[in-house]
Amino acid sequence: MLTDTPGIHHITGIVRDAQQNVDFYTSVLGLRLVKQTVNFNEKFTRHLFYGDETGSPGTVLTFFPYPAEDDGRIGKPQISTAALVIPPESIEYWLDRLTAHGVDVDGPIERFEQTVFRFSDPDGTHLELVTGESSVEPWDDGPIPAQHAIRGIHSVTLLSANVFVTASVLDTLGFELIGQEGDRVRYRSPGDRATVIDLLDRDSDFGREGAGSIHHVAVRVSDKDQLYEWHDLFRERGYDVSRVKDRHFFHSLYVREPGGILFELATEQPGLTVEADLDMLGQSLFLPPWLEEDREMIEGQLQPLDVPSPSELNR
Ligand code: ZN
Repeated sequence: MLTDTPGIHHITGIVRDAQQNVDFYTSVLGLRLVKQTVNFNEKFTRHLFYGDETGSPGTVLTFFPYPAEDDGRIGKPQISTAALVIPPESIEYWLDRLTAHGVDVDGPIERFEQTVFRFSDPDGTHLELVTGESSVEPWDDGPIPAQHAIRGIHSVTLLSANVFVTASVLDTLGFELIGQEGDRVRYRSPGDRATVIDLLDRDSDFGREGAGSIHHVAVRVSDKDQLYEWHDLFRERGYDVSRVKDRHFFHSLYVREPGGILFELATEQPGLTVEADLDMLGQSLFLPPWLEEDREMIEGQLQPLDVPSPSELNR
């Protein structure tokens, strides 16, 4: 039997420069680079994963750096914004920190009784920090004092090409409508972290995928059997759904719903720490077994990446 998703698993965006991406998400936002690998479909493109100490589901942002990519433009149908949780008492800390790093901050504003401020990463990806509660433990060894550190994902905001259909897909996945402020309609799943998806009930121009675009949002499912059941349900509805794929750190499928948003459904297991030494997470290029024989060729094609160790971040 199908069960509701407990929430978001990860969010994936497109950027241009891998080094700039690492520097921003580790040194400025204080996330841990938990995995550097390649796009399993395009082995000469990096794939960078950031999250809490272990990259647990509900904390992970991932990026594909394409050095020659044009700027994207935000519009329908797209995921317009990724939001992260900070503790309510950390607003001043984060305003000061972002400003000190030359980041333009818009806000703070109040939304659904939470404080929100908006900014962009160096590629123009729209980000928010939102005050709130989360079950995510802060990463002790990062550059941010644990009391202020980011506590995983808060939400994504969707600009759909068909708001009614996307709303019904959210409902099917297990997100329940909990409120509306202006044209922002909020849905929440029953989990303990990364539970919110906002749907903007407005028309907008069409967007263009490129640097600064969010490519997809993945939601959590318990196991592979669930993926096969979801696959059959989406196919019965005539949605554009992929087969179940082995992503090494999880199994997943992709579905492009008729409102145009690309959702991934991903298992929580085995997770980003599979086969990895926790202290060394993200420090070297990981390749899945089926790409290991091409390591030399792959490493030769990738631009070098300077990955700060936790002690360097803390200096
Ligand atoms: Zn993904």
